[in-house]
Amino acid sequence: MKLSKNYKFWFCTGSQDLYGDECLRNVAEHSRIIVEELNKSGVLPFEVVLKPTLITNELIRKTFNEANIDEDCAGVIVWCHTFSPAKSWILGLQEYRKPLLHLHTQFNEEIPYDSIDMDFMNENQSAHGDREWGHMVTRMGIERKVVVGHWTSQAVREKIASWMRTAIGIVESSHVRVMRVADNMRNVAVTEGDKVEAQLKFGWEVDAYPVNEIAEAVGAVSESDTNALVDEYYDKYEILLEGRDADEFKRHVAVQAQIEIGFERFLEEKNYQAIVTHFGDLGALKQLPGLAIQRLMEKGYGFGAEGDWKVAAMVRIMKLMSAGMKDAKGTSMLEDYTYNLVPGKEGILQAHMLEICPTIAEGPISIKCQPLSMGDREDPARLVFTSKEGPGIATSLIDLGDRFRLIINSVDCKKVEKPMPKLPVATAFWTPQPDFATGCEAWILAGGAHHTAFSYDVTAEQMGDWAAAMGIEAVYIDNNTNIRDFKKDLMLGNVVFGK
Ligand code: MN
Repeated sequence: MKLSKNYKFWFCTGSQDLYGDECLRNVAEHSRIIVEELNKSGVLPFEVVLKPTLITNELIRKTFNEANIDEDCAGVIVWCHTFSPAKSWILGLQEYRKPLLHLHTQFNEEIPYDSIDMDFMNENQSAHGDREWGHMVTRMGIERKVVVGHWTSQAVREKIASWMRTAIGIVESSHVRVMRVADNMRNVAVTEGDKVEAQLKFGWEVDAYPVNEIAEAVGAVSESDTNALVDEYYDKYEILLEGRDADEFKRHVAVQAQIEIGFERFLEEKNYQAIVTHFGDLGALKQLPGLAIQRLMEKGYGFGAEGDWKVAAMVRIMKLMSAGMKDAKGTSMLEDYTYNLVPGKEGILQAHMLEICPTIAEGPISIKCQPLSMGDREDPARLVFTSKEGPGIATSLIDLGDRFRLIINSVDCKKVEKPMPKLPVATAFWTPQPDFATGCEAWILAGGAHHTAFSYDVTAEQMGDWAAAMGIEAVYIDNNTNIRDFKKDLMLGNVVFGK
């Protein structure tokens, strides 16, 4: 499973021919230096490519259209070194369809007090030119990110890096294809949604396959392939027999190995990057895919349980946005399961029947084999672990009937006070910001689901920007949230996005 493509970002400097050739030579040279230094910094996850200085309407339009059709280009960074009359940009911007960053910077960091003259000011007037440009982008209602500061600043470079990852989430969204080998769980509301509207808004293709087609692909996996993967599991994970017979245990684990290989082959052959299952609709599968789904999520596939295709697509997108991050801590589907309500120790225990991604694990990962109280299949093998501490975000994309809303909750992940030896599933534990009661109240008022797409690595700002690019409502629940203002956010969303 390929998580990151060799994307590039174009650097386009705005100017005009009013200031003479020498000035334009300097503009081009300064832009070249900025691009070179940004690429050398090691902060940006993708390469920046310098484009010729944009000084005419024709060149602006041509460059933006080339960016549209270049499959490797994931976005354009614009900066106006001098003044660039913004009417020159109208047609190019109207036709441009990819993520846009306005880097509001200046070549020199300090005013050259002793030597500054009018020529210098005319050459270095982004304070002026970038306002003209920003005015047009605002007037045209185009979503863009604005990053302000000197291009050598670490904070500026980190903001560009963060936006690049958001841009990947935006351009990759229309390449997400979700395979449904089970429908929504009967009578459940929050995992439902309008798949046509999802394709219009996000570009997602969400398709159904009979579960027995994938079960056939599982059945076709050879015993030798299966055994080789079982050996890999036994090398990599702790085996917790818990009184079970060792051979019988291994046979149960082998069922999951066969599912992992069969599912992956089927998904690859049919070009899907995310999958949903349902414990009540397993056809010829011998076990609910547990360990198998956990491993597929680790490889970068999106997953949603009980037919939850919205979560499957969101997990995939958040994995793409965080792909290749240094010191990444993980991204997974999670489910709000049970509470600790002891004053001062409040939190939500996150788990699922089985399917939690091991990228979020801390410490040893073990395989257990236990009965599943739901469904009517063999005891499934699963990976069991606890998760990392630290901040993260839980997101829930809901369908309100007339629109989608993305709820983004900043959460603080913690260790539970004591081990839970009888709980045979992977877990995380967090306190929602700003505090347990306010966080849960806001989540419920917003209509948030019990399944979430969670990440330690993707930020609330990135997901809010992603939602804005998709043209949908986003609400934030974090340390700035209070219920009175949050209700106003929801009311505002109804005015702006409601029909
Ligand atoms: Mn569930």
